[in-house]
Amino acid sequence: MLVEGAVLDIDGPRAAYVRLREGKVVEVGARGTASRSSHERRVRGIVVPAPVNGHTHLGDAVSVREPPAGPVADLVAPPGGYKFQVLAAATAAAKRSAIRLAVARMAREGVAATLDFREEGVAGVELFRTALRGLSIRGFVFGRPLRRPVEAAELAALLRVADGVGLSSARDEDEGTRRAVARACRRAGKRFGLHASEAVREAPESYLDPTPDLLVHLAKATADDLVAVRDARVAVAVCPRSNALFGRQPDLRTMERLGLRALLGTDNAMFHTPSIWSELQFAYTSSRLVGRPTSAAFLARAALVEPWLWLGEPEAARVAPGSPVRPLVLRLPPDDPAYQVVTRVTEQVIVRAGPA
Ligand SMILES: [Zn+2]
Repeated sequence: MLVEGAVLDIDGPRAAYVRLREGKVVEVGARGTASRSSHERRVRGIVVPAPVNGHTHLGDAVSVREPPAGPVADLVAPPGGYKFQVLAAATAAAKRSAIRLAVARMAREGVAATLDFREEGVAGVELFRTALRGLSIRGFVFGRPLRRPVEAAELAALLRVADGVGLSSARDEDEGTRRAVARACRRAGKRFGLHASEAVREAPESYLDPTPDLLVHLAKATADDLVAVRDARVAVAVCPRSNALFGRQPDLRTMERLGLRALLGTDNAMFHTPSIWSELQFAYTSSRLVGRPTSAAFLARAALVEPWLWLGEPEAARVAPGSPVRPLVLRLPPDDPAYQVVTRVTEQVIVRAGPA
């Protein structure tokens, strides 16, 4: 397949052609200079790295009714929040099939990986792994230990099956827990993630010490807080749709101005679809709704590039021969790639790899 149009990747947007064989990039060059073969399928469009969903709770997909009204803490805070009641009441089989359906849908939308916060301890992580078996999406799983105070044996068992540990927040988890978890993650070479400043502002000292590998939300963070996060070199997963349900929004504009490393995530699957494209559209539109316009380039990067950097796989964020992850071909006008990608993508514009 020959795509004439544009590339948008770690190196930014540029006019280009891309030749793919069985979905893999074999050649990239200046637009209009590709050799022509009459048998080759030709598409006008944009080629991008496959996106990564920077924050999900896919176990929540087992919840199918409108969640009750109320503050976010009543819905998602451990141990008694609504979602934990729903998870406890559901069978393992129901949770597995709900996760599998959600992930299959993400795969159809071209997503290559998801960073999931999985509750329910070791069993929760194992259930998630089983649910993804045979699907084309990679699950990077942050597990969560069940016992408090944390026990070394449970943490060790969790880190054997998970890619890291994801905790609720510094408000919900005491310092001893956070330190024990951060230390165990470091020792195991795994990642430590933490929600922060979601419903109320928390002081950066509370969530930056011990230093996490990933913060989630920062919807209530001030500009000074964001400076502290940037200076600590901690990446942030932002979830604008989830925050909007409770009348909040992360300050994406300031994050962009400060050069924060931002990943885009869809958060709890009980609230809405885990669609990264819906999240991009909402992020772009809502940043204007609140008078804090954010560039399409920054948002596209949060879905297509920053998560790969966070995973330590920059080559996956580059459209080039030898890239370890197959890129996406989008049948969209190539004149302003970031704007198109952020405002226009649905499953229907994704061009599937076919013959030639
Ligand atoms: Zn979350």
